Amino acid sequence: MMPLPKGRPTFCAVDLYPLRHNFREVRRKVGPGVKILSVIKANAYGHGALQVARVLEKEGSDGFGVATLEEAIELRRGEVRSPILVLAGIYPEQVDDLLKHHLTPVIGELEVMRKLESAAQRRGAKLDFHLKIDTGMGRIGFLPDERRSWLPEIAKLKALKLEGILSIFSHADSPEGSYTQNQLKTFKRLIDNIGGEGFHPPLIHVANSAAVITLPASYFTMVRPGLMLYGAYPAPEMTSQVVLKPALSWKTQILQLKTLPKGSSVSYGRSFVTQRESLIATLPLGYADGYHRLLSNRGAVLVRGKRAPVAGRICMDLTMVDVTDIGGVEQGDEVVLLGRQGAETISADEMARWAETISYEIFTSISSRVPRIHYSSEEE
Ligand SMILES: *Cc1c(COP(=O)(O)O)cnc(C)c1O
Repeated sequence: MMPLPKGRPTFCAVDLYPLRHNFREVRRKVGPGVKILSVIKANAYGHGALQVARVLEKEGSDGFGVATLEEAIELRRGEVRSPILVLAGIYPEQVDDLLKHHLTPVIGELEVMRKLESAAQRRGAKLDFHLKIDTGMGRIGFLPDERRSWLPEIAKLKALKLEGILSIFSHADSPEGSYTQNQLKTFKRLIDNIGGEGFHPPLIHVANSAAVITLPASYFTMVRPGLMLYGAYPAPEMTSQVVLKPALSWKTQILQLKTLPKGSSVSYGRSFVTQRESLIATLPLGYADGYHRLLSNRGAVLVRGKRAPVAGRICMDLTMVDVTDIGGVEQGDEVVLLGRQGAETISADEMARWAETISYEIFTSISSRVPRIHYSSEEE
């Protein structure tokens, strides 16, 4: 069912069935009347953007959000035809590509807006765009309080057309908190203000995964979930509100097994010394694969359904684990770094705690050296 890569057996298996399931959970939450822009930036959080886009397009995703123009073009080359929003910055010299590939830029400042407007005008072209409002992230976007300086410029646009307006929460993992509520209020007030000036962009959106799960007041006409599509929860207390299934498993096989006498050191820097005669397995992956170096002497992997702790420092291309307490281990045994084996699971959240980061970074750190293999398990 799921073919192994030839040669080095380190790979990510991406099951398309949970992606479909998670998308339906988003749909169930927001209802039929709200559009869903599936966020598949950074290679769909490491899951393979093209494959994810194709699956979600069939599920009824209304469009896709990516970070960069290059990510968008890759989707177009793969025949993804849905609307694509370029979220994280656009540059005037990209106008030809925007037009050629029918991509929608997010614009968050006047200088870029003017340059895109004149470039589009020179080409006699029309270009839809979404207006980014900074309601409290201090990042990209127009400040609502300064609207008297930027709103009149929007009124003058001829080639650019305001299709959408968006903002982003800075603390959405506590969406009921007052900061999020204030951002929402600011955003609503601005929409009213620009409505009063005659602007009624059809696409109004602010909700990321956390807000999709916990804050229906933030849905407006479209939502932008990312993380939850891949089956991870933005915060642990959200597990009771939606059922998400992880799509990605990260696996390898034992490259070499050896018994080391008590008192032997393992890996660079001698940070692990055997306290007894030990069975040490070497795995064919390291931090260059995105297996975080902070997992040294801290992380664990699954072998024969049991946890084996990482022994010593993670190397660039190799990692050692202590399998002394697991019976019957053999060279070539399957090793699960992320995902389930037997009754045991290592989630992206657990790995993130070991690596002092968040699940987002665990997913996006898995490097391009690790092949992604897509398959679809049975519908349950
Ligand atoms: C990444 C991103 C999202 C998705 O956020 P999740 O927390 O992964 O759901 C939504 N909107 C913007 C602008 C983003 O950059």
